Parts: sequence; structure tokens; C-alpha cells
Amino acid sequence: MIKDTSEVTTLYSPIFLEHRPRDYHPENPDRLLRAVRALQRLNLWKPIEPVPVPEEELLMVHSRDYVELIREKSRAFSYLDPDTYVSPGTWEAALTAFGASQMAVEIALKTGGMALALVRPPGHHAGKAGRAFNASTLGFCIFNNAAYAAKVAEELAGKVLIIDFDAHHGNGTQEILWNDPNAVHIDLHERDIYPWSGYEHDVGGKNAEGTKINLPMPHYSGDDDYIYAWDEVVLPLLAQLRPKLVVVSAGFDGFLGENLTTLRLSELFFAYAGSTLSRYPLAVIFEGGYSVGLGKGLPAFIRGYLSGEIREVPVSPSYEALRTVARVKEVQSEWWEF
Ligand SMILES: [Zn+2]
Repeated sequence: MIKDTSEVTTLYSPIFLEHRPRDYHPENPDRLLRAVRALQRLNLWKPIEPVPVPEEELLMVHSRDYVELIREKSRAFSYLDPDTYVSPGTWEAALTAFGASQMAVEIALKTGGMALALVRPPGHHAGKAGRAFNASTLGFCIFNNAAYAAKVAEELAGKVLIIDFDAHHGNGTQEILWNDPNAVHIDLHERDIYPWSGYEHDVGGKNAEGTKINLPMPHYSGDDDYIYAWDEVVLPLLAQLRPKLVVVSAGFDGFLGENLTTLRLSELFFAYAGSTLSRYPLAVIFEGGYSVGLGKGLPAFIRGYLSGEIREVPVSPSYEALRTVARVKEVQSEWWEF
């Protein structure tokens, strides 16, 4: 069924532009403005301004020491590691990003549609106390917006499904939710790149086994490979879980031409992914995407969601993609039916 554009709510604040690099950096305020222009072209630009959460809310997903470290460091510009900076606007932006994530969950549950938290700084690499699963850096992330959205969703709906299609593994999200049986997390990403985690056999901690599903996709994967993985793993899980809400960690850096990874995704994959989720309330949390993916991948995902029709897309995945998906299904068949 075709959805009405009123079923997309965007949460945005100019405060998100105040997390600023000093010199050129791929994670910069222009990214958000690109995304804003894409939404304007879709006639979907009627943002609601979120409010910052109280500081204690950060402790839902982060340690007190890490929260204090960020608060102190962001009084001036500094680098936390070779990838990740903080600036005087970071603290307020990060608290407001949590506010947007919380509102996205509440609005999606209320309307049954999509609520898009168009936030910076991004979050999915941020673990409980900073770097997650021995990652070398925080990968541009400060506080984990998606993990917080998942916790808010659990309070309101009991269980939650998180789907992360950013090109990189959502290691921070997975670390925070590792032992949480009520948070099912599916993560598609390019294998063997930063943050060097998220393999087939990583299935969740004690009493949460099978709630973490990693699809480490081969280098150079494109639409056929991703749609194949989506059909074979994501759709069966959706059918078995029938979640009341899906949190999407939405990164568009796998788009062909983003040049941060070898992935070669196009509008086809993002529109398809969106269309298969159209029956669910979505809290979409903005992650990566630095150039062409924002202008093309983001609107394709939204258009797919609004189109409401799941079209069968014939695909011819690579041999490596077939093997990867077969391994994931074999490991996960202990908990899921495929
Ligand atoms: Zn990424």
C-alpha cells in the first residue's frame, strides 16, 4: 500500500552543525546539509526540532567515565584518536542527537510511519566506554544514538530489531547490546575493513545467543549481493520476529562513488531495503554517508519505504556472497528458520 508523505517525520536541529572539525574532515557539517537538500527535493522537509536529553540519559548506554571524558574534552577542540574529534559544539549536539533518537522511537510507534533522526555526531562505532571490540578508533562517533534508541524502544515495546546497513560494522551498537536478549541486531557490512569485527560466528553473549546476526559481505559487493543477503537473512528474520518497531542504523557510505569502501551499492538496494520495511514503524538513525550516498541513497530508501510495494528483484550474487550468506544461515540456524 502506498504511504502518504506525512508518514515521514524528520528530526533535525542546527545544533548538529556545531560539531565541527578544524581542518578538512570527511565527517563535517556539510554532510547533513546534503541530506537536508535531498529531503527538500522530495518535498519532505518539515523538520521537528528535538530537545537535548538530560546528561543521565547517556548512562543508559555509556559508562560514567566515558561520558565525563567527552564532557571535559569537548570544552575545546581536540582529537580523541586519529579519526575522531570533539569541538565546543560537540556536547550539546550529542545530547540533542540522543533527544532526536528518543523522539524518533516515540513518533514511529505513535504514527506507524518513519521517523528520521538526522543527527551528528554519528554513533554506531561508540561502545559503552569508548572504542568497542578493540577497534583502533571511535570512527568519527561520540555517543551511540542507535543503541540508545534501541533501549528506549525496549522500554516502550519490550523487544526491538536493529538493522544496520552502514558500510562498516556497527561494533559499538553490538558491544552495548551484546548480552541483551531483547535487542536483535542484524548488521550488513564490508568484511575485513575498519573496525575489523562483525563476523559470522559473532552471535551475541550468554543468554543472548542468536540475537546478533552479522553479514560480513565480500569486498566489491553490489546490489545483487546485498539484495540476496537481505532476501535470505533479513526477510526471514523479520517474518519470525514481527517487531513492533525497527531501529535502522542508516549509513549510506556503501554507495558506489563514496569511495570509503569497495562496496558498489546503488539506489536499487536502498529502495528495495526501504520497500521491505514499509509495513513497520521505523526509527531511522543517521550514521555514515559522506557524498553521493546522501544525495541518492537516502532518498531512495525513503521512496522505497513510501512506495509500500515489495517488488521481487531477480539477482545474481557473486560466488563469495553466496558462500557468506550460506555460512551465516548455517551458524544462525540454531536459532532461526531460513
Ligand atoms: Zn560507515
